[in-house]
Amino acid sequence: MTHTKCLAPGQMWSTHAWVFALILRVAVAQAPADQYRDRRLIMVRDQIEARGIKNQEVLAVMRIVPRELFVPESVRPQAYDDQALPIGFGQTISQPFVVGLMTELLDAKKNDRVLEIGTGSGYQAAILSRLVGEVYSIEIVPELARSAAETLRSLRFRNVTVREGDGYRGWPEKAPFDRIILTAAPPEIPQVLLEELKGGGTLVAPVGVGVQNLVVVQKSADGKTITRSVLPVRFVPMKKGTEQTGIGQGTFSLPGDDVKYKAKGMPMPKGSRSRHPRSTELGRAREYTRRMRQDGDLRSSRLLTISDARRI
Ligand code: SAH
Repeated sequence: MTHTKCLAPGQMWSTHAWVFALILRVAVAQAPADQYRDRRLIMVRDQIEARGIKNQEVLAVMRIVPRELFVPESVRPQAYDDQALPIGFGQTISQPFVVGLMTELLDAKKNDRVLEIGTGSGYQAAILSRLVGEVYSIEIVPELARSAAETLRSLRFRNVTVREGDGYRGWPEKAPFDRIILTAAPPEIPQVLLEELKGGGTLVAPVGVGVQNLVVVQKSADGKTITRSVLPVRFVPMKKGTEQTGIGQGTFSLPGDDVKYKAKGMPMPKGSRSRHPRSTELGRAREYTRRMRQDGDLRSSRLLTISDARRI
């Protein structure tokens, strides 16, 4: 016996309308991610590869890290433009090419422990996170430290630890480091950071007041350093801790179920996670991550391999 289910014309229309609405909803929901992914690929091709960055792992990571989620919503449409962008508190996220160049110059290996001075938006830390073992990042502006830690956590960059503090003091509890990168410019490289660099290690930094140079310092096994200048650059100056009021030594620990804020001088204000403009966007960031995982775009594995790079 066959059962044929007949739908009245009205019923059929409502079923079609429902399916159509569902397809439309899915399409609309996916559009921004796809649009940003396309722009990201174009950015890497035209701004990074075209200017001579050859490290395939660096290029591959820059093709998958969603830069648009590290900038304030107001400048999100410019996230893939060939420029630095404001991230609040008078600070900037570096131009994509500069991030690519500094990451290539750092020449980090997959098990390296890397110290970054100047977390800012957390974008550079996210790029490093997929290339190395552990990233430790220090940010002097408490609000930026907190929001970067939250963004990194929401996007599951689990091997990054962000600390609110003064980079001039280094991070003695976690030293020595295989690689050190500064994304704010000191007048000269702080001695404490050179001491925290392992023998055989590399440090990359913009150095100087007014006219700055991007320099690469190689430290030999016997502790001697060789410095070479790569090109003139323009970064925000590296501030002394005394220039910043209310500076604490808080640590935002990642990974974890929650951002653990342990600042001594500055208790975590109630509801502060939703008070920062970017915190309200974290739900969207999580949704984005989930969707990219489904797409196979953002790997759940921590390290990206050359074979991943080929597949992208
Ligand atoms: N790496 C960042 C770019 C940050 S811009 C990114 O990917 O977005 C430089 C950052 O260095 C700013 O956020 C600034 O607040 C921070 N900074 C300046 N002086 C510092 C210091 N002494 N210690 C730690 N961070 C500092």
